[in-house]
Amino acid sequence: MEGNIIYCNKCGEIIKIKLRKQKRGADIEINYFRCKNCKEKYIFSVLNQECRKLQREIRNLQKSKNISASDFRDGKTTEDEYVKAINEIEKELTETQLEMKEKMDELLTIYK
Ligand SMILES: [Zn+2]
Repeated sequence: MEGNIIYCNKCGEIIKIKLRKQKRGADIEINYFRCKNCKEKYIFSVLNQECRKLQREIRNLQKSKNISASDFRDGKTTEDEYVKAINEIEKELTETQLEMKEKMDELLTIYK
């Protein structure tokens, strides 16, 4: 995301995204960027402790996909076992991502 280029919805200026962090209380972390031209604020994500925990879970699940892949490559698991493991991880990943999206959307409506 950082360094990506988008058009500002408000003034049409091209913006190179430079994410900034803002804390609200002990728990809430808002990631946002501003249009250099009109100063419009764009909130990229709002995270609380629960979201950060889900984020970590997502990262761990993605890591475990790599572990399954290398186990399969090294002949430690059969193809069937590998496919089964990946499917289970994918399922959990999808559920966790959905849960996190719902929580973030909820926070976005509060902190925008
Ligand atoms: Zn603008």
